Amino acid sequence: MDIIHLLPDSVANQIAAGEVIQRPASCLKELVENSLDAGATRIQVIVRDAGRTLLQVIDDGSGMSEMDARLAFERHATSKIREAQDLFSLRTMGFRGEALASICAVAQVEMTTRREEDETGTLLEIHGSNVVRQEPCSCPIGTNIKVSNLFFNVPVRRKFLKSDQTELRNLLNEFYHIVLVYPKVAFTFVHNDEILLELPIGTEKQRIEAVFGNPKKNVYTSAFVDINTETELVSIRGFVIKPEAATRKAEQYFFVNGRYMRHPYFLKAVQTAYSGMLTNDYQPSFFIYFTINPEAIDVNIHPTKTEIKFADEQTIFQILMASVREALGKFTLAPQIDFDTQGSIDIPAPQNNPVSRPHLTVDPNYNPFHARSSYTQQQPVANWESLYADLPTKAKNVIYPDQLEEPAEVELLRPEEVETCSLWQYAGKYIIVPTAKGLLLINQHRAHAAVLYQQFLVQIAQTQGSMQQLLFPEVITLPPDEMVLLAQLLPDLRAIGFELEQLSPDSYSVLGHPSQLEAQSPIPVLQHIMQQVRERGADTQQEWREQIATSLAETAAVPYGRSLTTEEMRDMVLHLVELKNHRRMADGKIIMSLLNDEEINKRFS
Ligand code: ADP
Ligand code: MG
Repeated sequence: MDIIHLLPDSVANQIAAGEVIQRPASCLKELVENSLDAGATRIQVIVRDAGRTLLQVIDDGSGMSEMDARLAFERHATSKIREAQDLFSLRTMGFRGEALASICAVAQVEMTTRREEDETGTLLEIHGSNVVRQEPCSCPIGTNIKVSNLFFNVPVRRKFLKSDQTELRNLLNEFYHIVLVYPKVAFTFVHNDEILLELPIGTEKQRIEAVFGNPKKNVYTSAFVDINTETELVSIRGFVIKPEAATRKAEQYFFVNGRYMRHPYFLKAVQTAYSGMLTNDYQPSFFIYFTINPEAIDVNIHPTKTEIKFADEQTIFQILMASVREALGKFTLAPQIDFDTQGSIDIPAPQNNPVSRPHLTVDPNYNPFHARSSYTQQQPVANWESLYADLPTKAKNVIYPDQLEEPAEVELLRPEEVETCSLWQYAGKYIIVPTAKGLLLINQHRAHAAVLYQQFLVQIAQTQGSMQQLLFPEVITLPPDEMVLLAQLLPDLRAIGFELEQLSPDSYSVLGHPSQLEAQSPIPVLQHIMQQVRERGADTQQEWREQIATSLAETAAVPYGRSLTTEEMRDMVLHLVELKNHRRMADGKIIMSLLNDEEINKRFS
């Protein structure tokens, strides 16, 4: 008996759909790209329930003939290439002729479309690859595609979707990738009847402002400088943030020939150009547009991949880095941050340097241990670790290299010893403890951060954060995807002591913050939390909590350069050694290190 048979188209399409359409965001991308390929100047996106229930794209593009409308949903039906050779001169976004076939295989699709030259348009309804209706209709020029109940016939896929908030963020991010390269096309994005973005036709800069800033104020883009480099190989244009305006939360966008791309290697080039100009973990924001001969890049990659291969990446790396450096006017000394010098450090900018130097202020009077020690005001929670016993925490999953070298039972310092030992501070950075085994060196900032991290985790889980009202509420303005993210994090942020109130569709007012932050502005911490959650793709509540605790601990921990009293040091070290993991941070950074007898004696032999 023969056992091989051809799969029906509907099944083959469903399988192919698994590759092209993974989530609502990929469906949106395909639909909007089609509208752009059809020459639309105005594109409306209407979404319901983060795309689960409805994803609709309305354009004023070329429209389709009756015949084309039907053909468009067949696999490998495309108007964009005819022969393999065409692949190398592609100027359109789509070319595989897979998207519509895939979408209609896994959803209920209704489309109306009309060309300018036609009196009547075509209405087509397809459910799971089966045409259920095709008839003439009256409709405006252009195409209107409604994709309902995505994955209605693929329950596994449907179940695989993340929370509405996460899927909505994915949709918005996908949308940003497109709208940022098409400022000459007007877009709107509506979610559950609420207009999240309204983007009129304008310049690239105006588009960036409309998405991330506020077109009425133009504050966002005024923090950027232009880059512009033309070479035979590549043209690089765009905007890079002035170093002093960088924050922990960065918008980093590369585009090549009108297409968004991720490119870790080129990211490195930009970061290198900023080296020495950014403090701490600040990241540069940038919007960089490459134009290159299509033959020098590989476009025939998987449709959902955003990595693109260039023929001559090393040369482009150099050109990009030089271009960013030039824009930053960075041919002078980078500021040195010296924590031994207290007070204000202001490195004067040389004449005709277009970039002003970052201004760093260190408040010599600031003391986190004022009155009561900030980590002792909380009642210690008995058995807090049991709270997390069955939750996989990062800290527990990390293998600590030094624990491999020295077995865990070799304890460097026992809590009883801490009660009586001597403690010295060295260089405003280390706590030195003489022990029976040698001199123990403890990094004061990391030690405190590790202690605070555990306390914050417990406080979030138990909604026990202590809140301090802000004298002057601060306002945080966010693009739509981050508004969604913040809403997602809100319960945990409140649990730890943030008091936030939505002010407008794109802003929150911060009325209070965790008391451990003391006089520090809560905005950078909130931005850091969001940036980290985004970067790490944290998608569970436990991961969010860990991130909130990490960012807060990092900010609230005593900085280098702060002098500590013996009591403060003892208190800190005591709390530290009580932690299960007190030798290294969750990210592997060393907290304490022993200079043993042998090493010391060697110096005198
Ligand atoms: P591809 O974009 O790779 O060609 P698609 O499946 O996305 O494949 O679309 C198939 C064809 O349907 C396109 O080549 C185009 O001719 C037509 N089409 C799709 N969407 C639109 C639209 N919004 N306006 C006009 N034509 C469209
Ligand atoms: Mg397409």
